[in-house]
Amino acid sequence: MPTFVIDSKCDGCKGQEKTACMYICPNDLMYLDKDTSKATNQEPEQCWECYSCVKICPQQAIEARPYADFVPLGGTSIPMRSSDSIMWTIKFRDGKIKRFKFPIRTTQEGSIEVMKGWEEPSDSELDNELLFDEIGSTLLTPDN
Ligand code: SF4
Ligand code: SF4
Repeated sequence: MPTFVIDSKCDGCKGQEKTACMYICPNDLMYLDKDTSKATNQEPEQCWECYSCVKICPQQAIEARPYADFVPLGGTSIPMRSSDSIMWTIKFRDGKIKRFKFPIRTTQEGSIEVMKGWEEPSDSELDNELLFDEIGSTLLTPDN
């Protein structure tokens, strides 16, 4: 089921030009009404339920009916992100609540060196149809 915004929780990302949900949606579905400062999923039938907006919303204002394989019909699932994990709150239709915490990274936030171990590609390599690691770039070993 597509996502929907709970108006009472949405603060319009405090008036930023582009809200978090607009930024993250790969299908460009989220829309901010500047008069009300509330976001909405403007084309629910196009939503593929990737949960990106649900996870990024800083107010936990976006809900999607979860898949039946992890929550029985009629429940809700709300994520709360931290820098190293997501806490999912699952609310069943009979009111019961369960929480699950999953790690989302194995390294310190901001510590990854993107090009570590690889040579920088040249400008001409950008036109090459091959993948980055299929062209001239060489995997460096600790010895070189
Ligand atoms: S990310 Fe959340 S709080 Fe921000 S505009 Fe979207 S629904 Fe509202
Ligand atoms: S669940 Fe994915 S596709 Fe649907 S509105 Fe959110 S970010 Fe867009």
